Amino acid sequence: MRKFLKIPSNILLFVFLTLLTQIGGIVYLVSMQINKRWKWNNKFKPTITFFTLYLGTTLLIIPLLAPIFGREKVKHTSKISPANYMTVLLNRNYIRPELNALLNQAEQELKGTDIEIHYLDANFPFINSCPLLPHLSHNDGKKIDLSLIYETENGEISNMQKSISGYGICEDPSPNEYNQITACLKKGYFQYNYSQYLTFGSINDDLIFSSKGNKKLIESLLMSPKLGKLFIEPHLKTRLNLTNDRIRFHGCQAVRHDNHIHVQL
Ligand SMILES: [Zn+2]
Repeated sequence: MRKFLKIPSNILLFVFLTLLTQIGGIVYLVSMQINKRWKWNNKFKPTITFFTLYLGTTLLIIPLLAPIFGREKVKHTSKISPANYMTVLLNRNYIRPELNALLNQAEQELKGTDIEIHYLDANFPFINSCPLLPHLSHNDGKKIDLSLIYETENGEISNMQKSISGYGICEDPSPNEYNQITACLKKGYFQYNYSQYLTFGSINDDLIFSSKGNKKLIESLLMSPKLGKLFIEPHLKTRLNLTNDRIRFHGCQAVRHDNHIHVQL
């Protein structure tokens, strides 16, 4: 009976690791084969094997293989870094070189300001059409989500986030702003509000949405002709007085974009 239960749990773990990290499922299968042959009697053997193999593959091997699929890691600089380093450890930080060039140009545009670019989910390293859940469109190396910019009560730009994941703390429409969220929910798109469940905990509650910081960040991204579309919730586009037609509404079938900025080539 135990053996019967063990097979499905192995399959479930394989599927979960694959959906989370793309390579985790394969690394898990390889680590199981190593454990079968490795005569070491230690209850931590499976965990040690998996994590050693996973980290070695993630940090050393995948960056060398990703260019075969036209992708590379997001290049970190003093002003470009992940909002949460788990994005890197989970292999969710791969993009096409043109997108690195776009981010690099935005960084140049932001020189002299305190604004930094903190990225969230991008794409997996391999295979077009393999979505990085829960983002169905992040499947071709052309997409990246960026954290919103916040400021202190005194109006000083902060480079901290308001949630551990960087997602989910929404800048709601004020009563006099157009409420796209209610409009989508009324049409039956119940998933539109789901991003609020992805915070993994809220932090820095005293920080507030920075209108000047987000406007400057978006304008710096728009300077690049490589930018195809940028998604942000309609009430924020209006609030920030942004009129560029590459800033689009993503549609009710997506999730709300007032907790992050979506950028694509
Ligand atoms: Zn996105």
